[in-house]
Amino acid sequence: TTQIRLAAYPEGEPKDSDFETVTVDLPELQEGEVLLKARYLSLDPYMRGRMSRARSYAAPLEIGDVVLGQTVCEVVESTVDNRRPGDLVLAFTGWQTHAVVDARHVRRLDPEAAPPSTALGVLGMPGFTAYAGLLEIGRPAEGETVVVAAAAGPVGSAVGQIAKVKGARAVGIAGGEEKVRLLTDELGFDVALDHRSPTFADDLKAATPDGVDVYFENVAGPVGEAVLRRMNTYGRVPVCGLVANYNATSAPDSALGFPGFMNLVLTRSLTVRGFIQDEFVPTHTEDFRREMTQWVADGSVRYLEDVVDGLENAVEAFRGLLSGRNVGKLLVRLPD
Ligand code: NDP
Repeated sequence: TTQIRLAAYPEGEPKDSDFETVTVDLPELQEGEVLLKARYLSLDPYMRGRMSRARSYAAPLEIGDVVLGQTVCEVVESTVDNRRPGDLVLAFTGWQTHAVVDARHVRRLDPEAAPPSTALGVLGMPGFTAYAGLLEIGRPAEGETVVVAAAAGPVGSAVGQIAKVKGARAVGIAGGEEKVRLLTDELGFDVALDHRSPTFADDLKAATPDGVDVYFENVAGPVGEAVLRRMNTYGRVPVCGLVANYNATSAPDSALGFPGFMNLVLTRSLTVRGFIQDEFVPTHTEDFRREMTQWVADGSVRYLEDVVDGLENAVEAFRGLLSGRNVGKLLVRLPD
């Protein structure tokens, strides 16, 4: 197998020298195991957190570890009856071409039901994050205004479209004209805003004449602060991600500041609630699979994918993810 391993904890934006590519022999297949060949690697912002020793909700990678992550793989060899060569499965094998894993740790995918890559995006962890975070914490009601940034990404695009399914108004924020156009033309947002525009704060005001009832926080930074200032009384803020800060090397600047933030929380009776999607897995997986599969099938939730070919391009693609170069769910495709 060829693997990308962490060679150093990155300072700021990850550099090529923070990673090393090695080719090693795989262990022999034991009873209960399967040999997998990766077809798609999922690249996700949370991986940046694992490349840091800063305290977080999960242990960091050690130097020399294969970069972690979910994958869609093909079974090449199997020692168990319920996984056959040729089966496609969802696994957690990280940035490598092949792996030997316990067959109980992979979930079989039905390529007839949905394209296998969706198991890493709209029908997988990012879609689930949007579904559980928005419905459980955001609780959008009909006619309310829901705002989300990183709106062209897999989490944000699902948030906006689920909000629409629930009868709310969806305002999406993304970087650049192309993404902004996709939000309204392809993904059904009512309004889309470019956070890089010099008129962003005014555009946001104009786009939210009745204020904001739900702000699904994916990014933090100046975008997050601008939206928080627009919150209505009893507004809900599911705090899902802070991607604007993931490469930061010092404490980020804040115009609002902690006192300003707390003042908003108090005077507008806001509910600000962070979450890691795992917490909702036991309670929301069944409903998610049923509803989201239905919404994707009937076209009420659409999805974009950004597919990069070749393991050797994973690091560059990952840098792009943190700076907004991806359009839709970022995947690395490996040759058949
Ligand atoms: P995306 O594909 O949306 O990628 C991240 C996007 O963030 C970029 O494409 C970029 O889009 C945007 N972005 C980056 N920097 C900034 C900035 N300074 N200001 C505004 N936008 C910025 O990723 P995902 O959909 O996979 O993830 C979205 C968020 O959800 C992330 O914060 C992630 O960490 C979080 N998450 C949290 C989970 C949880 O359990 N809590 C689970 C899964 C994801 P643009 O060009 O539009 O700026």
